[in-house]
Amino acid sequence: MPISTTNPATGETLETFEAMDAEEVGKRLERARAAFEEYRTTGFAERADLMRRAADKLEKDRDDIARTVTTEMGKPVTAARAEVAKCVKAMRWYAERAEELLADEYPSQGDVEDSGGTAAYVRYRPLGPVLAVMPWNFPLWQVIRFAAPALMAGNTGLLKHASNVPRTALYLEELFRHAGYPEGCFQTLLIGSGEVEGVLRDPRVAAATLTGSEPAGRSVASVAGDEIKKTVLELGGSDPFLVLPSADLEKAAEVAVTARTQNNGQSCIAAKRFIVHRDVYDEFARLFTDGMRALRVGDPMDESTEIGPLSSERGRADLEELVEDARERGATVLCGGRRPASHPAGWFYEPTVLADVAPGMRIHREETFGPVATLYRVADLDEAIEVANDTDFGLSSNVWTRDRAEQERCVRDLRAGGVYFNGMTASHPAMPFGGVKRSGYGRELSGHGIREFCNITTVWHG
Ligand code: NAP
Repeated sequence: MPISTTNPATGETLETFEAMDAEEVGKRLERARAAFEEYRTTGFAERADLMRRAADKLEKDRDDIARTVTTEMGKPVTAARAEVAKCVKAMRWYAERAEELLADEYPSQGDVEDSGGTAAYVRYRPLGPVLAVMPWNFPLWQVIRFAAPALMAGNTGLLKHASNVPRTALYLEELFRHAGYPEGCFQTLLIGSGEVEGVLRDPRVAAATLTGSEPAGRSVASVAGDEIKKTVLELGGSDPFLVLPSADLEKAAEVAVTARTQNNGQSCIAAKRFIVHRDVYDEFARLFTDGMRALRVGDPMDESTEIGPLSSERGRADLEELVEDARERGATVLCGGRRPASHPAGWFYEPTVLADVAPGMRIHREETFGPVATLYRVADLDEAIEVANDTDFGLSSNVWTRDRAEQERCVRDLRAGGVYFNGMTASHPAMPFGGVKRSGYGRELSGHGIREFCNITTVWHG
């Protein structure tokens, strides 16, 4: 894949970049290593000061960088600005909390004595340069979600961003440099995915985090496994959205539309499979389909646009294949299911709802990365949970019910990294984020996230 900026709303390539050669990559790895040796000795106050300055700069740059993001990957510019605000918040949150989250931990004196010691504690020390392989869908947020805790913990970062967001990738390096971080603390590697293995095997790289597809995750995890290096994987999702009889149906349908179509439907934690109790199915299907049909599809730079294009021609073709396969095997298209006639250029696709989806269809098992929802009618909560868990993924889940017993059942039985009631899954700095099964492992955000790339060191005194 060439490293280039191509506007998904027009299909026009605006800028192409030369990948960095091995010598340049080597120089950057050496800088990351050398920077780590200095930076790891800094205190939390100094790191927090740098992080706050980076947050201030990002906030100031909001409008410009939001337009860059929209130009490179097609999300509505209003959503790109919201993504900037979310990053600023997380940076300030970690600046404020890192010291407390990584404070020394003390076992009980009884246990210390039982170990034959006089004193003991646990210290969270940084690991070293961490390679971050990141996707284009939230091209700022995915990176900041890694960088804010990793830098606050004392690590240095090397970003290999998706090949279609090079301007955003270069901006991120500039952001940290401008904030005053020592040279080499956070660098962008403009390289293709074929160069990731070499970087990951380099002894100067301590660990890796990848957000992206299952094949990319498998590849990075197997190389890292071979090198015995720690990884965190945030992969795909096909989150269920359960609607049970006690739900506020109007609210559920309204949130369902947003949960499915945020980021033009290209979000790992988007609700993708709508599993509805038969007693409320017809009413929910009507409200939801009306909401999907009413969305404004258009130029993502337009302030009133709700759905922009998909990020790539390939991405739209993959989505179309899933819809066609379902249609051929008997699914009913309640709305959409085609390219909008009003936007012949660019990679647009109409918000789509499919009913009568069955296990033999590809769409039942595969992730839909675009504004396409599948509807399932179920007889009761048992069947709803069964359908919800009938997936290789396990990122998050959404359940609409006011019944306490049903809520407890879902917390016990839904196999996912999150269970969100009467609202949609959304990440927040204080809440751990991540999945089970083929959605990956490890957690980002919160105290769990910042501790992933730490050497959890036992200090013991005899
Ligand atoms: P992708 O192809 O896996 O790309 C993600 C990153 O991995 C890019 O930087 C890409 O580089 C790189 N990459 C691809 N193949 C690689 C390989 N074999 N070895 C090393 N690096 C490799 O992902 P995508 O299809 O663009 O993004 C969408 C996927 O990401 C979806 O499945 C979505 O659910 C998932 N996602 C997950 C989360 C989460 O938090 N769980 C968040 C967002 C997205 P190039 O661009 O150069 O190929």
